[in-house]
Amino acid sequence: MPEMRRNPITGDWTIIATERAKRPHKQPMVNTGSSDGEDYSPDCFFCYGNEHTTPHEVLAYREKPGTPDSSGWTLRVVTNKFSALNLDDEFCIDNDNPLKTCCYAHGKAEVVIESPHHSLNTALFPQQQIELLLKAYKQRYITLAREASIRYVTMFKNNGTPAGASLSHPHSQIIATPVVPPVIQAEIDGAGEYYKKNKRCVYCDMVKNELDDKTRIIYENDEFLSFAPYASRSPFETWVMPKFHSDSYHKLTEGQLKSLAEVWKAVLYKIYKGLDNPPYNYFIHTSPTRESTDNFYHWHMELIPKMTIMAGFELGTGMYINIAIPEQSAEFLREIKY
Ligand SMILES: [Zn+2]
Ligand SMILES: [Zn+2]
Ligand SMILES: [Zn+2]
Repeated sequence: MPEMRRNPITGDWTIIATERAKRPHKQPMVNTGSSDGEDYSPDCFFCYGNEHTTPHEVLAYREKPGTPDSSGWTLRVVTNKFSALNLDDEFCIDNDNPLKTCCYAHGKAEVVIESPHHSLNTALFPQQQIELLLKAYKQRYITLAREASIRYVTMFKNNGTPAGASLSHPHSQIIATPVVPPVIQAEIDGAGEYYKKNKRCVYCDMVKNELDDKTRIIYENDEFLSFAPYASRSPFETWVMPKFHSDSYHKLTEGQLKSLAEVWKAVLYKIYKGLDNPPYNYFIHTSPTRESTDNFYHWHMELIPKMTIMAGFELGTGMYINIAIPEQSAEFLREIKY
């Protein structure tokens, strides 16, 4: 039975994912969306005609109405076949022994199949397809957040094998958990402290500061700003933030989704072109589902190209050594023609 175990010192949870062990061991290297491969692969779970090989779809966009789990979709979301989490398992913490706090691995993991095209890089999607992807994240967030036991929904993408992708068909993932992840909790605590002291949102101040300073801006439109954060952890780390205050991604309107798609497409393209399709991870940081963070939290997206390997110092301390100057990384990406 998959379970979650809590570190009694830090309070951090680990998912013991026994189901995942069933996945084939030797995985081939994949170059996600290399765009030089075939548009269709008969053996791929995510290609047209193989819909029956995945769990049932929980969301699909189709240009023409069609039956669920059949071809013709433009984007499809399914439950992750190798999910480490399960909503059927009750979320009850066994706390009898403080050194052995655990619970069933309660939650839900889903895969977003971003396009029917087998090897089209996300950076080369038409802007409309990026918009669909961003809309799917919002829709699934809303549905998953309705589950009473779910405290956080994380949406992320692993691009390329070094970044954790195991299939080359363009896809990203959504994982709903019964606990707020420590990275989010740290952001909420920090933003809450700043708000208490200054009566302002730290992220709104950050946007203002970046717009004044200009040296770390990568791309912007009226509503969204992308920039290299001042204290970037790794080369070419890129954040995208709404210029308007909003604590939760799911509050985006249709118009704002369109506007975000324009900036997100520019960011993905600049990273793809400028860094020659590097492996990367991106994730959306948004408010937890059951906490009131309206005034002081501010959702954003973070993209981190995998240019270096997390090693002893990073793993041992949670501190990072960045070998690139954020202002120079931003200038480089800013100048990539888009
Ligand atoms: Zn495929
Ligand atoms: Zn704000
Ligand atoms: Zn963040």
